[in-house]
This record gives sequence, structure tokens and C-alpha cells, in this order.
Amino acid sequence: LVDPTARPEEEPVVREDGLRPRRLADYIGQSELKQVLRIAVEATRRRQEALDHVLLYGPPGLGKTTMALVLAEELGVRCRITSAPALERPRDIVGLLVNLQPREVLFIDEIHRLNRVAEEILYPAMEDFRLDLTVGKGTTARTRSLDVAPFTLVGATTRAGSLSSPLRDRFGLIQRLEFYGLADLEAIVVRAAGLLQLPLRPCAAQEVARRCRGTPRIANRLLRRVRDVAAVGGHGQIDAALVDAALSLHRVDGRGLDASDRRLLRLMLEAYGGGPVGLETLAAGLGEDPATLEAVVEPYLLQLGFLQRTPRGRIVTAAGRAHLDGPAAVAA
Ligand code: ADP
Repeated sequence: LVDPTARPEEEPVVREDGLRPRRLADYIGQSELKQVLRIAVEATRRRQEALDHVLLYGPPGLGKTTMALVLAEELGVRCRITSAPALERPRDIVGLLVNLQPREVLFIDEIHRLNRVAEEILYPAMEDFRLDLTVGKGTTARTRSLDVAPFTLVGATTRAGSLSSPLRDRFGLIQRLEFYGLADLEAIVVRAAGLLQLPLRPCAAQEVARRCRGTPRIANRLLRRVRDVAAVGGHGQIDAALVDAALSLHRVDGRGLDASDRRLLRLMLEAYGGGPVGLETLAAGLGEDPATLEAVVEPYLLQLGFLQRTPRGRIVTAAGRAHLDGPAAVAA
């Protein structure tokens, strides 16, 4: 339920999910990101040019795809959405690039997973709006250049460090998305509840905000589970007690930790005395992929101050320990 990478069917990537803000003015929080992009959009609109390429990085579910769509909306152009694993063959990316209209936005999710060939096709396209294609084979092979329309690449990644530096250097704007603060999350929950026509008390909105790991995608998902419980057993207004009942049912505890977070903390405490312990060891102990553990599970625990990264490995903090033993934790 609190896996920020999971996109349920109710939230298709390409189609408007009904909850995505469409304009910059509706995009809640991330004030620095919005300010930078607002200025860039305004300036390029005046110059009638394509917006510089934008790299958005940060944990999943924070609004990178949404921002790409918002940018296209603000620029008055279409946004094509794809992700790096879908661009396996050279013709996949060439096909996309040659079909772009001037100033359109091309969004590539998980851009750190692009293969070398796709990256090399992308370099001249990003820099000079040109494709260098090799035609023929062996001694008769020749390179032909093809113009593409000036476009904006919006790349998204959870792992900025995994991007090759030539690719990273071709983005004019590189912005990090931060976990959302409680006030912004509350505003996101109130807005989504309005769109879903849910009679949510302010205390209930606060409770969802506290438990969504600083992540709008999770806030929306928790809200849908609350809506289910309210539809079945609720009466009228949704209050904090109903939110608590609904989320405890899904084992989401008072700080938004789920079973896998608690498993990680328990493993560290019980098998390694709280650490320091290496990422690989933990991943093996949990049967998780180290990259997922690092990019998806850890960031929120680090943000809460329950976990620390040190040169010698990960450590559970006193706050992490206290949480597991405290009343806000849900059993396993
Ligand atoms: P990412 O691409 O970073 O994984 P998305 O852009 O798909 O995340 O966002 C997930 C969901 O969270 C969206 O469907 C949208 O409804 C909601 N959301 C994201 N950012 C915001 C925001 N700033 N304000 C309101 N809702 C948001």
C-alpha cells in the first residue's frame, strides 16, 4: 500500500488520473522547483523557443511525471510519455524523436536505465536537434543526419547518481524533488478529497498527511483505502479515528511505515545490534534488491531520522528504536 513505485490501474501514467494537478498554480509544494520552472517557462514562451531540457530527480511518487505534464500544459504543447525500459531498440527512440512537433515535451521516466545506444542517439538530438543515423553495414556504412524539431526532454530518475555524466551534462535544468512537508501534504489530501467528493474532517486530512511518507502518490492511495472503509462502515464525516482504523487494517503505522520498513529496522536491531551494517548484507537478509532498498525504502527512513548512513554502513537511530517500541508502531 505504501510502495511509492507501484502505480495501480486506477492511476494510469499517461492518462489524466483525475487527481493530477494540471497547472503550475495547482501544483502544491516544491516551491523552489516551481519558481525555477516558472521563470524558465515564461522566458522561453517569450522567445518562442523550446524549453531547455529538464532533469527531475528524487524518490518515486513526488510528482515528476505530473510536473512534465504541467510544463507541457503551461507551454501549450503536447507531452509524450515513455520510460527508458520501453526504448530498448534504436528505432524506438528514433521513432519518438522524428515524430515530435516543435516545442513538444518528451518525458522519459527512469532515464538512468537508458542503454548506451539510445543515449548516443539522444546526445545530438538534445544538443543540436539532429539525429546521426548509420545506414548500411560494414564498409558501405554511412552516417546520415536528420533534423528533429526543437523539443524539450524531461527526464526523471530516482537515482541521479546512476546517470552517465555526458547525459546529465546535456540537461540545462537539473532539479531535485523533496519529500513534502505536513502542511503541503494536508493541502494535497484536502484537494484530492474534494475531487473524490469525500467528506473529510481536517483531523482526518492531517492523519493521512502524517502517514503518507511525504509522498503525494501514497497520500492519494491511502485516501482511496479510507474511502473504501468509509463506504462500507462509515457514517457521514470521515474523522481521524476512521483513518486510523482504515490504515491500521493495511498495517500502515502512525508514521507511515509499512511491514517492509519495520522488517528492515527489526533485522538491523535484532541481527546486527542496530548497525552499522552494509546495504548488501541488509538486502540479502531481506531478500530485496539493494538498489530498490536504497532508492525506495531507505529515503523515507532517513528523512524521518530513523536510519543513518555512515561510511561503515547503516545505523538505526534512537528515534528509530523508540518508534518500533512505541504506540505509533503497528505489530509486524
Ligand atoms: P513520480 O513521477 O515522481 O513518480 P507522479 O507525478 O506520478 O510521481 O505523482 C504521483 C501522484 O501524486 C499524481 O498522480 C498526482 O495525483 C499526485 N501529485 C504529485 N505531485 C503533486 C502535487 N505537487 N500536488 C498535488 N498532487 C500531486
